[in-house]
Amino acid sequence: MRLSRLELRHFRNLSNQTLELPPEGVALIGDNAQGKSNFLEAIYYLETLRSFRGARDHQMVAFDADVFRVAATLTAHEPRSEGARPSEVAAAFQKRGRKKKVTVDGTETTRMSEGLGHLAAVVFSPVDVELVSGGPAERRRFLDIVLSLNEHGYLSQLQTYRRVLHHRNAALKAGQPAAAVSAWNERLISSGAQVILDRARWIDTHAAAFGAYYARVSNGAGARMTYRPNVSFDRDPDDGVPAGTRVDAEADPQNQTQTEADAADHATIAEAFRAALADARENELRRGVTLVGPHRDDVRLQLVGKDADLDLRDYGSGGQRRTAALALRLIEAETIRERQGRRPLILLDDVFAELDEGRSERILELIDAEETGQVVLTAPKDADVKIRRDVLPRWRIRAGVIEA
Ligand code: ATP
Ligand code: MG
Repeated sequence: MRLSRLELRHFRNLSNQTLELPPEGVALIGDNAQGKSNFLEAIYYLETLRSFRGARDHQMVAFDADVFRVAATLTAHEPRSEGARPSEVAAAFQKRGRKKKVTVDGTETTRMSEGLGHLAAVVFSPVDVELVSGGPAERRRFLDIVLSLNEHGYLSQLQTYRRVLHHRNAALKAGQPAAAVSAWNERLISSGAQVILDRARWIDTHAAAFGAYYARVSNGAGARMTYRPNVSFDRDPDDGVPAGTRVDAEADPQNQTQTEADAADHATIAEAFRAALADARENELRRGVTLVGPHRDDVRLQLVGKDADLDLRDYGSGGQRRTAALALRLIEAETIRERQGRRPLILLDDVFAELDEGRSERILELIDAEETGQVVLTAPKDADVKIRRDVLPRWRIRAGVIEA
């Protein structure tokens, strides 16, 4: 699958245009403030239906317009292997009335999840460093996006969890009796335990790759990623999920044991969550807010040292944090390859600006060596375009006008 055509209407400063994208991708070159990041933002909007820069939808409508619209035409690389994947995804947002409309192959979606993930894109951007330097909420958002796009059922459990949490917090805040608050507990526990389990599994499955990517880019230095669930449960040191329920998936073609193990893991976590809520009860009633649950999870990112491990957030240099952020994006791309069997569309927004030459070179080698699909990258200068030097066509952008 590749992005073969992109149609832009009133998206930020970009002029209204329809672009045919080359199969290998493109390098978009332009001075500061000409619209390079806006271009990637428009593409990635079709993947997640939101801005990768954290902008609100209305901010992306061109100043002199009321509605933006972006549409992508997707073309199969290998027609037979693509199955029933869509060939057109479009999204529009109207400022007046704040209405979002998403269509897949011309049919309007009724649920958000139907519109997500069709491009199989990963975006690398300078703001990614916030994944490492920022607070736990940044890392939870990252987990939620990766899992929503790749783990069946995650998004709906997360949405349920958030809705129940909202009601429970409202009850606590209003000073309702303890019984009215705890009436929400079982629904909170059931959806929350699934969120925790999916996060635990994903982090554990990709922790080794995170370390390996970090080591390759930094020429051998070690880094570690571990899940810090707010509800602590007894975890198996080998696979990160609850102790004692590990199964050998290969010896189990029917997946019967897997389903049973899932249920057992869910039950173990639910039990721990229930106990944590009981412990926090007095405190919650006094403070008027839900104090335990996956809405307070974190992912710990550390430098592996000779004597001690150091949190990258507190002790990492700028380059070390950027490298860790890149490693997170690389495991995101790996997840797409594994879970969807597709080569991800890689969007690189001027990411080498603050890395030393050696690191930049090794990242490019990595991205070239991995099974990546199209690459769309932006850079202010021609000299910064080192990736796929010989094959990536160059486009220019000036004041929002792209010259292909
Ligand atoms: P840099 O190299 O500095 O990162 P860039 O080419 O990535 O620059 P963009 O972030 O894409 O630049 O922004 C380009 C311009 O778009 C900015 O000058 C900004 O004022 C403008 N802009 C942002 N939002 C809107 C909007 N809703 N309508 C019109 N213009 C907008
Ligand atoms: Mg930019």
